[in-house]
Amino acid sequence: MGEKKKKIIKTIKIDVNKCNGCRSCEMICSAFHATPKYSSNSPERSRIRVMFDPMRDLYFPVYAGEYTAAECMGRDRYIIDGKEYDECGLCRAACPSRTLFHEPDSCLPLKCDMCEDDPAQEKPLCVQWCINDALIYEEREEQVDEQETLEDVKIGLESMIDKYGWEKVMDTVARVSASKKG
Ligand code: SF4
Ligand code: SF4
Repeated sequence: MGEKKKKIIKTIKIDVNKCNGCRSCEMICSAFHATPKYSSNSPERSRIRVMFDPMRDLYFPVYAGEYTAAECMGRDRYIIDGKEYDECGLCRAACPSRTLFHEPDSCLPLKCDMCEDDPAQEKPLCVQWCINDALIYEEREEQVDEQETLEDVKIGLESMIDKYGWEKVMDTVARVSASKKG
């Protein structure tokens, strides 16, 4: 058994009924992650994207989740309140079958990092900038196995190196670390 340690689980709940598609969340997220910070903004670099369903006049924000090396072999469909949604429309993965959640210049996958910053942000910036309260931030504490956490990082790094090569990954790590310091 590995050692247990406390971990803060950060969650953002999404109330799609309150989202009006203003895209402030996309703007602030991409500006925060620009190099240098706040020097530019571009929705394509945002870790949150607001999808629009014109048939149902509905906006739904989707957060960038895990990187996946291969697309799904099948497709599911969700029925919510009697309306049918394509799995890809709600999916959070940086997946090779679409450009969503890939950095446009390097093609490296993007993932929401909850605005990691030093000093830490009081709340994630997309939550702070959502004037309609469609994004609700919550924290809870959990005991996790430290060994498993490190193993997760190792698996993620190996997948990225497989796909993009060591040099590209290290170049991105250097750029991200420079932007955190700046
Ligand atoms: S800032 Fe809020 S209301 Fe505006 S698009 Fe994002 S989630 Fe929707
Ligand atoms: S929590 Fe931060 S990193 Fe994640 S989508 Fe919102 S602004 Fe971007």
